[in-house]
Amino acid sequence: MKIIVVGAGFAGLMTIKTLRRRGYQGSIVLLAPLAEMFYYPASIWVPAGLYQRHDLNFPLDHFIQHYRVEYVAGSITGLDVVTKRLYTTAGAMDYERLVIATGGESARNLPGIAHVFLPCEGYRSLLAITERLALLQGGTLAFGFSGNENDPAAIRGEPLFEFLFGIDTLLRRQKRRDNFHLVFFTSCPELDARWGIREKGYLRRELARRGIQSCVGQRIDGFGEDQVILDGCELKSDLTIFIPELVGPAWAKQSSLPLSENGFIRADASCRVSGLEGSVYVAGDAGHYPLPAWVPKHGHTADLQAQVLVKNLIGDRQGEQTQYTFHQEFVYIVDTLDGGILVYRDSKRSIALRSRLFHWAKRLFIWSYLFDYRRANNGRGVIKK
Ligand SMILES: Cc1cc2nc3c(=O)[nH]c(=O)nc-3n(C[C@H](O)[C@H](O)[C@H](O)COP(=O)(O)OP(=O)(O)OC[C@H]3O[C@@H](n4cnc5c(N)ncnc54)[C@H](O)[C@@H]3O)c2cc1C
Repeated sequence: MKIIVVGAGFAGLMTIKTLRRRGYQGSIVLLAPLAEMFYYPASIWVPAGLYQRHDLNFPLDHFIQHYRVEYVAGSITGLDVVTKRLYTTAGAMDYERLVIATGGESARNLPGIAHVFLPCEGYRSLLAITERLALLQGGTLAFGFSGNENDPAAIRGEPLFEFLFGIDTLLRRQKRRDNFHLVFFTSCPELDARWGIREKGYLRRELARRGIQSCVGQRIDGFGEDQVILDGCELKSDLTIFIPELVGPAWAKQSSLPLSENGFIRADASCRVSGLEGSVYVAGDAGHYPLPAWVPKHGHTADLQAQVLVKNLIGDRQGEQTQYTFHQEFVYIVDTLDGGILVYRDSKRSIALRSRLFHWAKRLFIWSYLFDYRRANNGRGVIKK
């Protein structure tokens, strides 16, 4: 049997690892534009100089060899689910089972978005933030994210807070915090509710404690060269870091896949694509699953989904009607450079704890997560000119 996995991020690579670990011996084809993995969670430490490109970008040569994968360099452009054929920039490919793990995309619908720094757009944008910050003597730094009420899971609030709190700490360490005014803005009305923090006003208090102005629940009208426009009012900004809401992968519009309003691929909680059970699966940010709004599109969720997907795929292959679903949980350390806030939520519990140790806990977790990738490359990732 031939399984094609599309995408070399959290979900795609975890699918491949789990298939082999569960004893699948057949053919696995990995289709992705590059044989590299970019590890976003550690990118929050680039502005502080803790991590560089080679700490985030890992070549997959060893992975491909170790897990006996046939790698095809290319991008999926369309899909015919009737003939089980996918169209790619490297030509057409036929599959027996298809795993879609191409992630989501940042919405770019706001006017003037070209004027802001988007930290979720790869290393180049992270470097640009770092360089701009180093050049500034003072001024206003604006940090924001947008959400979509149709799809509350499709936002990246936590990483934005990590850039905000991390840069606040960095400026204090550099003894130049007094030269800067920090502003946080979001169109989302209620911050704590999303994290499930029972203690009302937790985040607002954290922002106030750090002397950060907050503009919560304000419509984001767009951006100018040195401004953010909120509810029609201009907010001057010398550096704007913005994380837009996520939308589904653009290529999926050219397919006959069932899509949510925001373009994500509809699937059930077992990660089988609706109407295509037994042949097409999706894991990670590319999918739309029947889940509570607080289960976010995160790497941790993508990993859990990939593991469950494989169990169900193997079940389908053996003719069993397995219905494995993943544990619905939200676990995240919001790093602040000088510590962290551990946020945990599931159907019963919701916890937010702050400790200096959580910065080190996050670094330790990331170090161990990346251990295999790093070891395979003599301790480093890839540096490309
Ligand atoms: C700054 C930042 C910090 C974050 N921190 C955390 C954190 O601390 N913890 C956490 O759990 N999550 C975190 N996340 C979220 C996490 O990175 C994502 O949820 C995760 O990467 C989603 O995994 P994925 O496999 O679905 O997609 P991705 O990791 O985005 O991978 C998608 C893959 O598909 C490939 N691809 C794209 N289009 C195509 C195509 N047309 N054809 C073929 N291949 C394609 C890409 O090249 C890539 O290899 C963070 C995100 C950001 C931006």
